[in-house]
Amino acid sequence: NFATIIEKKNGSLNAFLEVDKTGSLAKAKEIDTKLNNGEKVGSLAGLVFGIKANINVEDHIISASSKTLENYCSSYDATVIKRIKENDGIIIGITNMDEFAAGSSTESSFHGATDNPAALGRIPGGSSGGSAAAIAAEMCDISLGSDTGGSIRNPASHCGVIGFKPTYGAVSRQGLLDLSMSLDQIGPLANDTTGIAIALDTIVGYDETECTSLNQDFPVFTDSITENSENAFKDMKIATCKQFNEVTDENINKIIDNSVDKITDLGGEVVELSFDYIDLCLPTYYLINYVEFFSSTRKYDGRKYGHKIEDVCGKEVLRRIEMGAYISQQEFSGKYYKRALQARSLIRNEISKLLKDVDLIIGPTVPKLPHKIGEKLEPMEMYAYDILTVIANLAGIPAGSIKAGESNGIPVGLQLQAKPNDDLKILKAMNAFE
Ligand code: GLN
Repeated sequence: NFATIIEKKNGSLNAFLEVDKTGSLAKAKEIDTKLNNGEKVGSLAGLVFGIKANINVEDHIISASSKTLENYCSSYDATVIKRIKENDGIIIGITNMDEFAAGSSTESSFHGATDNPAALGRIPGGSSGGSAAAIAAEMCDISLGSDTGGSIRNPASHCGVIGFKPTYGAVSRQGLLDLSMSLDQIGPLANDTTGIAIALDTIVGYDETECTSLNQDFPVFTDSITENSENAFKDMKIATCKQFNEVTDENINKIIDNSVDKITDLGGEVVELSFDYIDLCLPTYYLINYVEFFSSTRKYDGRKYGHKIEDVCGKEVLRRIEMGAYISQQEFSGKYYKRALQARSLIRNEISKLLKDVDLIIGPTVPKLPHKIGEKLEPMEMYAYDILTVIANLAGIPAGSIKAGESNGIPVGLQLQAKPNDDLKILKAMNAFE
């Protein structure tokens, strides 16, 4: 029983900000009644979800872990939440995160840090740290996170679970509090590929209320787990990338090398590619992030939500607002933002060129192991965690992270990236790799 596990563990882990015992129990009873009456139940019947605190769930405080929104009780369900509810998923609570998803450690939460169940005393990663910790500690079946530059994959890697960022536009962002709207994507975390596939079959799909939602056919993701996984890598061409390994700690690279061997053993053909724009990725990502975040925070001026964001937010959020305001000044328009957009096109084109000849690009998810909670990092050191994950967001491609092994007892994640709309390929590979 998840409620009991949460009660026991959440005091020390702080993965959940709120647990909805009454609501989840009522939903469980509703499903039971349906079953007893021989009525049809939804595809998620009985599955228990944790939801990141930046996705609107009606009648819950959706604070994005910021004091700015401490009193914001949502009046509606995001599209993804509607779909989960319609399919009889049970929402058990709201999970902790970095303030406004701007971080990689979950330490910047107004509600305090989340501990890493797989490496106690260390950060769980972020920004969806609560969602990853909840899965690692078996407090729910599936959780939702958001990923702007790695926020699903990074904590999945640090906590030793699976996290998946779909192709940009495959999952509706309606009801997600923006960090950087051209990069943000909602996605699931779970302990196995089955959980990821079941969640995707529910949340992926066109949403006419969201302008970046893709209006197209999507595959059935649960097909990936029913197929014979022994042949999954046969006929697949997989690429590693030398620059990914160059920026990564040696201990992590060793584990990734073992994963590459395993994939070769499973029949995959592995080649090495070169991605020459690795140094451009972080500056490009952060410039775009600052400007888009600044613009999305102008509604938090105190009139509607009670606090003016600049008056109550933490250091990192303030840095992004100030930098975003500065960069967006008219006299700079050509200098920073436009150049960042140009660099983004360059990165996107190069990635699509590399992906032309291969099915997947694999490598480490995060270049270093998680630090101890409370350790003081410079902003640039914190940003350095993101170098391998921001690429997928800048390019709009799907990417997943699965546990590759452990270094000194600390989980290490393997990242798999594919062409836009090749999400299913990643799932098949993860299922075979598991
Ligand atoms: N760590 C990155 C940032 O701070 C990514 C965050 C995210 O994906 N939400 O922007």
